[in-house]
Amino acid sequence: MPMYEFRCPSCGGITTELCKMGENGEHLSCCECGTTGLLKNISGFASLGIPGGGGKGSCSSSCSGNCTGCH
Ligand SMILES: [Zn+2]
Repeated sequence: MPMYEFRCPSCGGITTELCKMGENGEHLSCCECGTTGLLKNISGFASLGIPGGGGKGSCSSSCSGNCTGCH
């Protein structure tokens, strides 16, 4: 199954989930604040690597790459 990134409409946190094609995230909950109903991050195809051409994007903190805890 592909991995998708979902963005929380409440706190902006990114939750990465393995889910089947067509998943829209509406029943997923944010790993940061627990808000249910996440927005699919179309550009965030986690299985294709980190967007931005390498490294961990613009994040210089040790957040393991998803930046949910450092911004
Ligand atoms: Zn959230």
